[in-house]
Amino acid sequence: MSAADTPNHFIRTMISKDVAAGKHDGRVVTRFPPEPNGYLHIGHAKSICLNFGMARDFGGVCHLRFDDTNPVKEDLAYVRAIQEDIHWLGFEWDALRHASDYFEVFYQCARRLISDGKAYVCDLNADQVREYRGTLTAPGQNSPWRERSVEENLDLFTRMRNGEFADGSRTLRAKIDMASPNINLRDPAIYRIRKIAHQNTGDAWPIYPMYDYAHCISDALEGITHSLCTLEFEDHRPLYDWYLNQLDLKANPQLADSLQGADMDIPISRPEQTEFARLNLDYTVMSKRKLVELVSKGLVEGWDDPRMPTLSALRRRGVTAAAIRLLCDRVGVTKQVTVIDYGVLEGCVREDLDQHAQRRMAVLDPLPLTIENLPEGYAATIEVANHPQQPEMGTRELSHGRQLYIERSDFEEEPPKGFKRLVPDGNVRLRHIGIVRCVGVDKDAEGKVIGLRATLYQPDEAPKVKGTIHWVCAEHGRQATVRLYDRLFNVPDPDAGPGSYIDHLNPDSREVIAAAWVEPAAAESEAETRYQFERIGYFVSDRREHRAEAPVFNRVVSLRDSWGKG
Ligand code: ATP
Ligand code: MG
Repeated sequence: MSAADTPNHFIRTMISKDVAAGKHDGRVVTRFPPEPNGYLHIGHAKSICLNFGMARDFGGVCHLRFDDTNPVKEDLAYVRAIQEDIHWLGFEWDALRHASDYFEVFYQCARRLISDGKAYVCDLNADQVREYRGTLTAPGQNSPWRERSVEENLDLFTRMRNGEFADGSRTLRAKIDMASPNINLRDPAIYRIRKIAHQNTGDAWPIYPMYDYAHCISDALEGITHSLCTLEFEDHRPLYDWYLNQLDLKANPQLADSLQGADMDIPISRPEQTEFARLNLDYTVMSKRKLVELVSKGLVEGWDDPRMPTLSALRRRGVTAAAIRLLCDRVGVTKQVTVIDYGVLEGCVREDLDQHAQRRMAVLDPLPLTIENLPEGYAATIEVANHPQQPEMGTRELSHGRQLYIERSDFEEEPPKGFKRLVPDGNVRLRHIGIVRCVGVDKDAEGKVIGLRATLYQPDEAPKVKGTIHWVCAEHGRQATVRLYDRLFNVPDPDAGPGSYIDHLNPDSREVIAAAWVEPAAAESEAETRYQFERIGYFVSDRREHRAEAPVFNRVVSLRDSWGKG
């Protein structure tokens, strides 16, 4: 990427200044920290492009860290899918980490907080904790367990760790300020008891650390300099700083002794958190809870159903990684919460595919057309360009006989005003073949047009015509399944109500055409090849189901933005 294409934004400016000032010894270390409880979606792409992009642009490093502190919803299948998606987007991590790699350090740090009188074991249950917490306008109340002695706290915490207490019966809490105007600082939980196996650490731990506590320590241990996260963590930043200031890991590296021998080559840092606005897209939902629900209720056909906003679905839909990166550049990085028009994504896809997708012909709603003045068994092979503006994309052979299919909508018996395609006794250009005249219209008993007869003009006798239509040869072409996808929801904000977002699913978001026709050079492509089907749109051969003998194409996007225009 040249400097001119590199979008400037407040985070880039901040990092530039930090590097120039020699902050963090001039290092730039970022991380992308997904929780492995679902597939990555297009919102995550913004965070990926930002974190990996900043490391790349400043000669730094970026870690992939699985934020796996809540084993209830986490799964190894998600871990694998997340890695695959990041690679597909075009990024490579410098180190792969897990928050669970640091469970022993978190534990030692918690003991330190207890010893320093900064944390206590609390016996309130979840409802009581809520009552004591207060509200936005009323301060909270101290827990009756807040003044336990260090010895008692250390003993109880050891026993929590040893699995002596029931789930939810106790928590370890930070002792900060129950009257703080920031509710996050009202003695937040550090550890909860949860006797459940973890995908990485098995049964080793009956207690699990809370996100805010684990995240800042993980950042420091990995030498992260710039901890970039979304705006909802802005109110958590004081807590992020509080933990790091209490523990001062740079001055107390012995707290991380359990990591000795681990491949941790970057010195412990004092990271700083900076927040940016999420990427929101209209006509979709992005919360993982909802995406999980769409999949588990069978409302879509899995995580990579081409209508889903997940990266694996967008990929299957035929969206390119380059188009997603372009979207992220265009949207920019700000603190302004906005909702991006779905059309902006589609525009990025068209822009990329217009340049990079070869052209092919396909007919989605076939109407037979016989060129009567060609002899039975006639076959001609022509060489045609794969891309009208890009000769370096080469040519392909295209054969035809006398029996073709054209698009049903390219013929009108009673044409509306301005119709430039085929009409009875009218002329039209068949792309790459020449100009034909419609000399006959065949109908079934109900009057439905079932075939056209035409004659091909000699090139020097052909009249001038205004319209050009595409075709597929019935003898040389192949039948194909084509799936037309559209927006998964039929309202811009499915979460806005009334009712559930599920009520707003677009019933027409998927149309399957079982008997479309495509030219052989499309059928014989590898899976996951993108084409512009001329005059129709951009399509991709399905990465799971496409076979040369049984071609399957997904529509990536139509040629033009016609959403909402009937
Ligand atoms: P959910 O709340 O739906 O579970 P999440 O934000 O918790 O999603 P994580 O796996 O924790 O998902 O996210 C990993 C990283 O990606 C975080 O740093 C998060 O801030 C960022 N991220 C998630 N969604 C978006 C988004 N829509 N735009 C930009 N960044 C995002
Ligand atoms: Mg999260």
